Amino acid sequence: MNKSKQVNKKSQIKIFDTTLRDGEQTPGVALTTEKKLELAHALTELGVDIIEAGFPINSEGEYEAVKKITKEVDTTVAGLARALKPDLDKCIQADVGLVHTFISTSPQHLKYQMNKSEDEVYELAVDAVEYIREHGIPCMFSPMDASRSDIPYLIKVCKGVERAGAQIINIPDTVGVMYPSAMKALVGKIREEIKIELDVHCHNDFGMAVANTLAAVEAGCNQVQVAVNGLGERAGNADLEQVVMALEILYGKKTNIKTQGIYPVSKLVERLTGIRVMPNFPIVGDNAFAHESGIHVHAVLKKPVTFEPIKPEMVGARRRLVLGKHIGVHGIEAKLKELKIKVNEDQLKEITKKVKDLGGLGKRIVEEDLIAIAEDVIGKTPKEESIVELIDITLETRLGEKPRSSVILKVKGVEKKAEERGVGPVDATLNAIKKALGEKNITLDEYHLDAITGGSDALADVTIRVGDGKRTTMARGVHEDVVMASIIAFINGINRIMKL
Ligand code: MN
Repeated sequence: MNKSKQVNKKSQIKIFDTTLRDGEQTPGVALTTEKKLELAHALTELGVDIIEAGFPINSEGEYEAVKKITKEVDTTVAGLARALKPDLDKCIQADVGLVHTFISTSPQHLKYQMNKSEDEVYELAVDAVEYIREHGIPCMFSPMDASRSDIPYLIKVCKGVERAGAQIINIPDTVGVMYPSAMKALVGKIREEIKIELDVHCHNDFGMAVANTLAAVEAGCNQVQVAVNGLGERAGNADLEQVVMALEILYGKKTNIKTQGIYPVSKLVERLTGIRVMPNFPIVGDNAFAHESGIHVHAVLKKPVTFEPIKPEMVGARRRLVLGKHIGVHGIEAKLKELKIKVNEDQLKEITKKVKDLGGLGKRIVEEDLIAIAEDVIGKTPKEESIVELIDITLETRLGEKPRSSVILKVKGVEKKAEERGVGPVDATLNAIKKALGEKNITLDEYHLDAITGGSDALADVTIRVGDGKRTTMARGVHEDVVMASIIAFINGINRIMKL
């Protein structure tokens, strides 16, 4: 891929992704270098034009991560720096392809954050840009808190950095206080005065980050800053998925994004950050392409355009139809066939029974539930082949005490009992199973829980990785109860590992 993607068409908008910088500043999120690299590769694959990889002066670890990403990733990598020499030097050392330097221009920040005069800030901004340019590195300048700055002063700073050789000026709505018409007016005024590229960075404090970003594009910005799943400080940044799809579909603009990669990247970011998007989140939420009402389902099956503004495949997602609780064996059979899942007659009966049982509990059953149930039924080791079988379990959970679990297993036909405590009921049970087996080396290396349909009685889908020091295997368990789903997954894993 080309490191410097050219933007020659007026309708082309560049995507500046800040998931690894502002996104990583989401409260509770911290990514290891390994995870950052994985995401940087995925973003490159997705087609973003610039990846802001971090704030190198922040820590040695962050510096190393930015440096590594710059080296390994085949797209332009930006590093953030205050308009101070040590910050700029750290970015230069990290060998970034674009230095993103910033200083505040709002009266609030000048007075309370920096205690500096307008002239002092102007000097620092221009000096920083000159310093970066002396090193022959492209530079983007951000007047932080631009949306609360005095416009004549803001324009003076922008003109100064333009003269100093900046390639791009970013207009940040740092505290998310803009609304679309105000944003359009502000960017329009700057556009009249500034000839270099304009970029925009919007925060979602009033839920208008995406709308403000699009308004800035209307006023002449040709680059937008976004984060996957709308991550970022406080209420987050403008969401990549929504901005890209709105640009492409509603505005008829072009981006370099391969839109089919949007859903997979959103899922990757969920997994890496541990932050799930709301079900009703646009484009990538669980319900974005789900249909439940009979009228909608019927119409969508006949002609998707009736109730789908875009095709789910366009963003790499799938349409989800909610299965009714009155579905019978034939309905399930047809659905499984459509999903290309092969089952025998016994498995079909068992799957149907499970679906109906869940439906009877008033649960909403979607295709993914059906897939999970089917995989569970198909993947289950037949009883006669099981080395380890769970016969019984008793759990005791008391406030202020560690939960205790007693299990009875049948191991190669011999009954074994054990009792153990753990930090939670799952941990206690897994400890008890290990004790009953006499297998100290068995470890639970990964644990991933999906509550497929939401709610406290949701169908729990547990995927784990079990190892014994020599081998590891993935295993899965599905059950209405999270503890049971975990135990089923663990026992499936143990059976598989013992056969390896
Ligand atoms: Mn920000």
